Amino acid sequence: MRLTCPHCGERDLREFVYGGAALARPSGDWGPDWDAYVHLRENPAGRSREYWQHGSGCAAWLLVERDTVTHEIYAVTLAGEGAA
Ligand SMILES: [Zn+2]
Repeated sequence: MRLTCPHCGERDLREFVYGGAALARPSGDWGPDWDAYVHLRENPAGRSREYWQHGSGCAAWLLVERDTVTHEIYAVTLAGEGAA
C-alpha cells in the first residue's frame, strides 16, 4: 500500500505509523460515550477513516480514508483539515 502525503508526495506504507481509527469525539463530560470512545474499537471490513503519521517523512498527521479489504485509498488530507 502507498499513501500520498500532501507535503511529500506518494510514499511507501513503511514510512507511516498507524494512529488509530478517526472517531468523532463525544461531547460533554465523562460517561459511557467516552468510555466507548477510549476503549472500544471495531474492526471494520470496508471503507474506514484512520489517522496515520508520516513518521519517516515530514511527521504530519494525516486523515486517510481507505478500504481495509482492498486497500484502495479514497482520500488523504492533513488531519486538521478533515475533521472526524
Ligand atoms: Zn510527509
